[in-house]
Amino acid sequence: MDDRLKLGCHVGMSGKEMMLGSVKDALRFGANTFMLYTGAPQNTRRKDISELRIDDAKELMRENGIEEFVVHAPYIINLANAVKPETFDIAREFLALEIQRTEKMGSKILVLHPGSHVGEGVETGVKQIIKGLNEVLSVDSTVNIALETMAGKGSEIGRSFEELAMIYDGVVNNNRLRVCFDTCHTSDAGYDIIGDFDGVIDRFDKIIGKDQIAVFHMNDSKNEPGAAKDRHENFGFGKIGFDALMYVMYHKDFMDVPKILESPYIKDPDNAKKSYEPFKHEIEMIRSGKFNPAMIEDILSERK
Ligand code: FE
Ligand code: FE
Ligand code: ZN
Repeated sequence: MDDRLKLGCHVGMSGKEMMLGSVKDALRFGANTFMLYTGAPQNTRRKDISELRIDDAKELMRENGIEEFVVHAPYIINLANAVKPETFDIAREFLALEIQRTEKMGSKILVLHPGSHVGEGVETGVKQIIKGLNEVLSVDSTVNIALETMAGKGSEIGRSFEELAMIYDGVVNNNRLRVCFDTCHTSDAGYDIIGDFDGVIDRFDKIIGKDQIAVFHMNDSKNEPGAAKDRHENFGFGKIGFDALMYVMYHKDFMDVPKILESPYIKDPDNAKKSYEPFKHEIEMIRSGKFNPAMIEDILSERK
């Protein structure tokens, strides 16, 4: 199969090794790109940039030909919140710092969930998002913000390409916006990823422009198209399925775009406290081009 494929997964960043450990994990999984959070995704506590071992990480990346990686902003920050000004302020301030961290770490892409309007309506939420993005993007940086396509659970904004286009329309420096296309989310939002990815991309192209897709999240879904749920499944094991996901993976229009797996860990049936990262096996399976229906059993049989 095509070795130009930029394929990686979500990796952690913790302990003494921090970002160096993230790169080591990516290499252990056979990835040639990766995505990380700069700290716990559910809070805004962050270590000082000097403690992240960025130079060591960059050197290991260089030695192994990893050219590109992606940072994901924590999902609790909500720029769309018009109800609690303090939530918006925290989001805006945190995002500004996150852009600086992303640049220092050496990535050009910061993935952001647009936010949830928490009952105030899409228009009000979008206005808030635009206000926040205009502030953070007024500061020069090499980092672009990739708005993620969302599944549409709760009051999430970004469930349609039109909603993302509304954000583009209001942002002054929208040359620094991009899109993170999540296959689980778009399928859950009702786009026909399974049967008509080309049709979906045609629509995306007319509304936003397909050159705006800076990263794919290559996730299968536990739910039927249109379920608006956002529950990821292991690659090929969900409702989207292996063939449809592989069609996206090797689509000629997106060969240079990094593809990131955000698959659930495999739970140990004998020990509720244990679970195993599926990424090495998933990446192997994808690169082999052949679905392995026994992948989960294989992972469990290798546990120590
Ligand atoms: Fe995300
Ligand atoms: Fe995602
Ligand atoms: Zn998701």
